[in-house]
Amino acid sequence: MNKKGYFGQFGGQFVPESLMPLLIELEEAMNNIIPTQEYQSIYHELLHDYVGRESPLTFCPNLSNLFNLHLWLKREDLNHTGAHKINNALGQALLAKMMGKTHLIAETGAGQHGVATATAAARLNMDCSIFMGAEDVERQAPNVMRMKLLGAKVYSVDTGSKTLKDAINEALRYWVSHQHDTLYCFGTAAGPHPFPTLVRIFQSIIGQEARRQMIDRTGKLPNCVVACVGGGSNAIGIFYSFLKDKDVCLIGVEAGGTGTPGCHNSASITQGIPGVLHGQKTMLLQTGDGQIMPSESISAGLDYPGVGPEHAYLAELGRVQYDVVYDHETLSAFTILSRKEGIIPALESSHALAWVIKHADKLKDFDVLVNLSGRGDKDLGIIEQHLSNL
Ligand SMILES: *Cc1c(COP(=O)(O)O)cnc(C)c1O
Repeated sequence: MNKKGYFGQFGGQFVPESLMPLLIELEEAMNNIIPTQEYQSIYHELLHDYVGRESPLTFCPNLSNLFNLHLWLKREDLNHTGAHKINNALGQALLAKMMGKTHLIAETGAGQHGVATATAAARLNMDCSIFMGAEDVERQAPNVMRMKLLGAKVYSVDTGSKTLKDAINEALRYWVSHQHDTLYCFGTAAGPHPFPTLVRIFQSIIGQEARRQMIDRTGKLPNCVVACVGGGSNAIGIFYSFLKDKDVCLIGVEAGGTGTPGCHNSASITQGIPGVLHGQKTMLLQTGDGQIMPSESISAGLDYPGVGPEHAYLAELGRVQYDVVYDHETLSAFTILSRKEGIIPALESSHALAWVIKHADKLKDFDVLVNLSGRGDKDLGIIEQHLSNL
């Protein structure tokens, strides 16, 4: 970051004046509370005893044989609540608590971050309200049920496209009018400063563990680290510890959708242009006249029309390569990992694996580390619609 909250030309705080005091309070808490011994010891105890960290590093013998490489998975799917999102939700919930807040709010699209936040709030004895687009409330009924079971109030957002983008706007509005007791727990490494940095701090545990685990197991660093990119939190989480290792190639995989010309997708870096959304300057999917395009992907968790500003910057620097894979490639990666290794991955994470399979000829004998960001139980309904030949 050169200027405060900027990653090169990306990032910043493009927010109404009324939001600035809240962001400043949060930034101060990030700088002053997180480094304390008290915070660190409670957070690490939660990660260990409640989330189940550290997460294993799993070698995949069958796929390694099949594709002539050495495939390693960082198993974020084995965390409590089934994905990496809990690392961040607990981190922000604990921060809120130590700031003296009693109420956590969050946006959610597919419901995964809503469930993680509701979980963290329950554990830390806090009230919880989740903002979710009306369309998503309908599409994601099981996660709405989970959030309610966990004691959260779910607000159905009826404005705009009634999806994630609108839920974020609504949650920001609510935060401004309830700032005395409320903290907004943002779900990915995006949004106005300090959220991209805050979320990266909590998710970088993934890369810290994985780097050490790879050295322990292989005596060296991986040749290549691959992660899917929605807003970018699991990807920055695993990349961050490898940024200085210039020989380690880093690949961020975006959702290319069906790949049919004219169809929407979620590939903000590979197919977007710079713009401002949700308080940040970043790469965005936009129409010719600057409207945000509806994003679309087989995996709801990648369905965000923007991307965290640090990824936009790493793309511009060329330190991380970003690429797309398409739905059919994702589905075959999903199936092959299930069949050959006995691991049913989230559709989001299947994008990362699909990239490896697609480019296996260029990765011969490489140690390839894939961030398996989540498990696939939540996706069985979608899988059933797409795979008729199971
Ligand atoms: C939410 C989600 C993602 C996408 O979010 P990022 O912030 O880009 O990591 C990826 N994988 C899983 C399993 C998710 O639930």
